Amino acid sequence: MSRRVFSAEPIATDSVVTIADAEAHHLLHVLRVAAGDELTLFDGQGGEFAGAVAGKSRSTVDVQVGQRLPVDRELPFALTLATPLPKGDRTRWLVEKAVEMGVKRLVPLRTQRTEPSANKGSDKLQRYVIEASKQCGRNRLMEIAAPLMWPEWLETAAAERRWIAHPGGQSLAEMDLQRATSTALALGPEGGFTDAEVAEAATAGWTVVGLGARILRIETAAIALCAAATWR
Ligand code: SAM
Repeated sequence: MSRRVFSAEPIATDSVVTIADAEAHHLLHVLRVAAGDELTLFDGQGGEFAGAVAGKSRSTVDVQVGQRLPVDRELPFALTLATPLPKGDRTRWLVEKAVEMGVKRLVPLRTQRTEPSANKGSDKLQRYVIEASKQCGRNRLMEIAAPLMWPEWLETAAAERRWIAHPGGQSLAEMDLQRATSTALALGPEGGFTDAEVAEAATAGWTVVGLGARILRIETAAIALCAAATWR
């Protein structure tokens, strides 16, 4: 796979697309591209395009767009992950891994024990999504939804399979994980879900799942849960 470049503008075959901002900076000052260098372009809407550097300025790179390649690296079903965002760099890590695992939509969640400062600005999160998509080859960007309060999330999460992770929940090893189907996942904050929140979810038809005897940090639990939901 040649170097992958994200275009914020929609890409069309046989056009010239101008890459600007962070992507151009990376091409110009890190990769030091030259005219004729081959690239793979994607605009986050699906598919990818062959391209070659056609020209550059101090802050932009023009790329001649070639053939569209219908490459699809998405999961065969919609996977939504709702989670309070952890502190500092751990959010970046969580977003990266969620992209790699194929999450379609990440919902920053506010629960009773979520710390008020725990949710980050959306521009930064979007940049993490783009970087992870470049690395793992996804051609559709994971959506980062607006933050939702726990009751709103329970009301609006529409999926055939809905799992809330809570210590002591039903062991995933005992569950039938054979059928991949639209799935909504919910994780609690560092302080955990309250008993009332878990009861609300169970009443609304969510399955309370356990991830083993050890208490995992949010981002570790996110990977474990996504892996269980996607392994077949
Ligand atoms: N003291 C909190 C508790 O007991 O719930 C720990 C919270 S943990 C750091 C953050 C979230 O990760 C939890 O709310 C839960 O959603 C998930 N989690 C962590 N370890 C888990 C486990 N062993 N089983 C199920 N969920 C787990």
